[in-house]
Formats: sequence, structure tokens, C-alpha cells
Amino acid sequence: MSTTMGETVLPCPECGAEIRTDNRFTTWCAACDWNVDPVGPKEPPGRLDRARRVWAQRHGEKLLADMAADGTPHAGRGVSAVLANVVAGAVHGMTVVLVAAGIWCMVGASGAPAMMLGLLLLALAWTLRPRLVPLPRNEFLLRRAEAPALYELLDEIAGVAHTRSVDVVAVDAKVGARVTTCGVRGQRLLRLGLPMWEILTPQQRVALLGHELGHYSNGDTRRGLIVATAFRSLTTWRYYLQPMSKPSGLEALLNLLCVVPRLLIQGAQTLLDQLTARAGQRTEYLADSVAARAGSTEAAVGLVDHILVADSAANTLRREVNNPRVGRRDSQQAEEKADGLWERLTAHMESIPEHEYERQRRVGARRGHSIDSSHPPTHLRRECLLAGPPIPALVVTDIDREQRIAAELAEARRQVARQVMRDGFDD
Ligand SMILES: [Zn+2]
Ligand SMILES: [Zn+2]
Repeated sequence: MSTTMGETVLPCPECGAEIRTDNRFTTWCAACDWNVDPVGPKEPPGRLDRARRVWAQRHGEKLLADMAADGTPHAGRGVSAVLANVVAGAVHGMTVVLVAAGIWCMVGASGAPAMMLGLLLLALAWTLRPRLVPLPRNEFLLRRAEAPALYELLDEIAGVAHTRSVDVVAVDAKVGARVTTCGVRGQRLLRLGLPMWEILTPQQRVALLGHELGHYSNGDTRRGLIVATAFRSLTTWRYYLQPMSKPSGLEALLNLLCVVPRLLIQGAQTLLDQLTARAGQRTEYLADSVAARAGSTEAAVGLVDHILVADSAANTLRREVNNPRVGRRDSQQAEEKADGLWERLTAHMESIPEHEYERQRRVGARRGHSIDSSHPPTHLRRECLLAGPPIPALVVTDIDREQRIAAELAEARRQVARQVMRDGFDD
């Protein structure tokens, strides 16, 4: 966070206070908030997403107060968690009914039309079945044997989070990290986005891993097997029940028939969403507290600040990809450009002046900004971390360890950079 590149000082047109500006970022006034948010909030596309965003804004602060008051772990084990599982069970129940009806048509009734209907119902049920997340195949995977130092760090952080460590690490080009549980054996997968990893300090990386592993220990209903698979089934239902555009006579009739089922599915989705959203947000705060315990409060706040300016990292990568100096078909040049990609990204992020961070915080407070609707607004996560006394790190790294981890990630860095330059950046 330096304030050297392209900086000038201007008087604020609104209140006359001194403004330090950087021509790469929005000029605004810290004294009166002039021009703090020139673009305004970007409305999320779907009605459900908009509702979620409004919800996150409204309840985020109340939740923060609750968290400060008790901060009870094992969130989402209350009444709403039970109800969410009941709704999710009903969703899967519909699939069971389809299977039963399909079998009945095929076995009980006679004639070709009944057979066809039975087959159709079974095929429908198959697409709606609770589906486990498979382990990714076309990604850069790092297993324990290939990255002993990284896994040693993960194990240590998992110990702080009181949970089992991860089984597989998939390195990708997202500005962030996520954890999931895959397959029948319940393998734990960490998706590690290099654009985020690269721009963090070693201690902030510990905080990032702490946050992610914290999700395993906090019993998030939304990520639970029954509820997560029900969300997926409902999405499939909505796809089938979507009204056809420019319908012919028969299609118009079908559209009309689908209105009530569609409303029911939408209702179930909204209900499930409401029942799990609070617990979901709560686990984010809890995951942040694990991040602080593992990497220190300072590092966890630093991590949240990086989330605040994640768009800037994404824009930098997009600029790199669209750089006209690289011919589309000139793969040799693209590879050369890929070489210093992470260094250039890190240099850009380090040059972001403090006043841009502060602007993003204020924009967040105005808009209720969050990385998505399942996360509390980012500025509130920061507030929550700073509410208590700062805590030191339980997991610390040293130069030797950092270098070993960097060596283990070297091939992934190279490959993911090339992939970004070749296929473009899409976050
Ligand atoms: Zn001003
Ligand atoms: Zn999270």
C-alpha cells in the first residue's frame, strides 16, 4: 500500500478538503465522501439473488452484534437447520415419488404409452437424483506426496481448526479459495485460486487456509449433504419448468400448466435459502475467527482487505489477457507473457494506495458489498475481526518453509498462468 505511483493532491470540489489521488483509481474525498461510489451498486441479475443481497445487508449487522455477544460455535444446529433438512428431504421425496411412479408405469400398466411414460419419469428422476460433487479432472491437482510442505502447513492449520485436513488440492485461476467434499468417500477438496494466493503475504495465506478449513469445523448446513444436493435438484427443476419464449399454441398451454409447479419450486428454493442463509453467514464469521487464530488477527484483516480489492486483481488479469502486444495465435509470445504474470499481478496489488482500500470499505458499507450472497458484507467481516482484542498466530511460517511450498507450486504457477493467457480470465 504505497502512495507514490502517479499521485497528485487536489482540493475537494465539494468541501475543499485535500484529496490525494492516483490516476489509476477513483478520485474521492475522505472528508465528505464526495464521489466515493461513482458507479453505484450493480444489481445482481436474478430476483432471488437480489433478495439475498438485500437480506445479507439487512441481517449482516444484527448477526455481527449476536456474534460479538456469544459467538457460539456449531451454528445452524437450531430449529432452522432442522426445518431446512425437512424441506430438503421433501425435495428428495419428490424424486422418490417420480421413481415409484415410473416403476409402477413400467411394471403395473400395460401398453407402449405407459412404458414410454414410465421411462420418461425414470429418466427425469435420474437427472434430479442427489448428486455428489465429483473430484475435478481437468485441473491441476496436487496430492500429499507431490506437495509435502503445503500439506504439512494444511495439517497444522487443520489442527487449529479442530478438523481433518484436506485430501486433494486443486490449483485454479480464481481470485479466492473454496473447500468442498467430493465423492462417496467424502474426500476433502481445497480449491486454491492462484491469483489470491500470489497476492497474499505468507501469514495472510495461513489466514486464508484457516478460513477455508474453518468451514469444515463449523457445521455449515448449506454445505451439508442433504441440503446441498436439494439445492442442486431444485435448480434442475427450475430448468425444466422455465417458460418457453415465443410459445406456439400447445407450448402456451404447457407454459400455463407449469406456472403453479414453478411457483412451488421457487417457493421451496426461497424457503431453503432463508432457512440456511443466517447459519451460512454465521459460519463465515466463525471461519474468519479460525483464520485469525491460525494466522493472527492482523493477517485475517489483511485477507479480508484483499477480498475487498479482489476486483482489481481480476481486472489486472483481464488487462494482461487482452494486452494487444500478444497476438492471439502467437502461442510462443503468450507463453513468454505468462512467465511473469504473477509477479506483475502482485506488483499491481502492492501498489494499490491505502485510500483505495478505504474507498472500497466505504463503498461496501453503502452497498452492503459481499463477495456473494452467502457471505456477510466484507466490511462487517472486518469489523467482526477487529471487535475483540487482537490475537497472535498459532501457525507461523518461515523462509525455508515458504520456499519449499513455492517450489511445490512452481509447476502449477506456470501452467495456470499459461492457461489464463491462452483461454482468457473468467472469474
Ligand atoms: Zn470533500
Ligand atoms: Zn468462507
